[in-house]
Amino acid sequence: MKINGLHHVTALASGARSNNAFYTQALGLRRVKKTVNFDAPDTYHLYYGDERGRPGTAITYFPFAGIGQGGKGTGAASEVAYSIPVGASGWWAERLTTLEIPHARREGPFGETGLDVTGPDGEAIALVEVADDAREGWTGGGVDAAHAIRGFRGVTLRLRETAPTQAILEAMGYAVEAVDGARTRLKIAGGNGADLVDLVAAPNEPRAAEGAGSVHHVAFSVSDRAAQDEARRALTEAGAQITPPIDRDYFWAIYFRTPGGVLFEIATDEPGFDRDEAPEALGTALKLPRQHERLRTRIEEILEPIDA
Ligand code: ZN
Repeated sequence: MKINGLHHVTALASGARSNNAFYTQALGLRRVKKTVNFDAPDTYHLYYGDERGRPGTAITYFPFAGIGQGGKGTGAASEVAYSIPVGASGWWAERLTTLEIPHARREGPFGETGLDVTGPDGEAIALVEVADDAREGWTGGGVDAAHAIRGFRGVTLRLRETAPTQAILEAMGYAVEAVDGARTRLKIAGGNGADLVDLVAAPNEPRAAEGAGSVHHVAFSVSDRAAQDEARRALTEAGAQITPPIDRDYFWAIYFRTPGGVLFEIATDEPGFDRDEAPEALGTALKLPRQHERLRTRIEEILEPIDA
């Protein structure tokens, strides 16, 4: 199985406009796709990442207007960590203060330097200073290269029991890098930069409740459909119940629920977000899945404008 690290992280939001403003204007990411939920086409599916939305950079959101905030707990991703250049934290702290976005100096784990940031729906976002990350951040969103977010560093999964999920990740090619109390850090060798998954054991904590700010699933990258088929075979042998490949227009996806309760996806790096928009225009037009194109007029009336 050849997993390259994270592909994307998909989460829920309570409002499209506030979500778009936070990720594009505050964090300076590029919106690389504006489309709709395949299963609920009156709801946006918004993607924010680097210049191309490369695998390992894209956070995607389903904004469901007015849904309540999710409850923290186990069986869920509890934090998404981004990589920023060494020394960039001070600049980010000033920017976030100016924008009145809650944040605090990050206290670990593993001696990491950075900021803990609270997103518009209470989501936990870490900006972590990383020395050995050659990825270039998007500088078209008002954040220069010395400070720009380069993509994900990793995710933290909060679990009642970590061993079964750790076994799945090890089957996917991850290996334990470090342990600090209840936290086990796994890393994939030769990854795309979004290389880490932290597992935090919280055996007595209730399950997280899904809502605004909740991560819906965590997607891992494979290069192409052959690698995806190989991963599907190996994970099925390891006992996972996996969906058949599903065409998500910008990648092919398979899904399975991990024993700890977190939904995993394995997504192909191809064809990518520039399959239906020129690279310089990514994320500007409303793109609809083929089967919903006939509903375009109605969908455009319903969706909240986000660029005004
Ligand atoms: Zn996904």
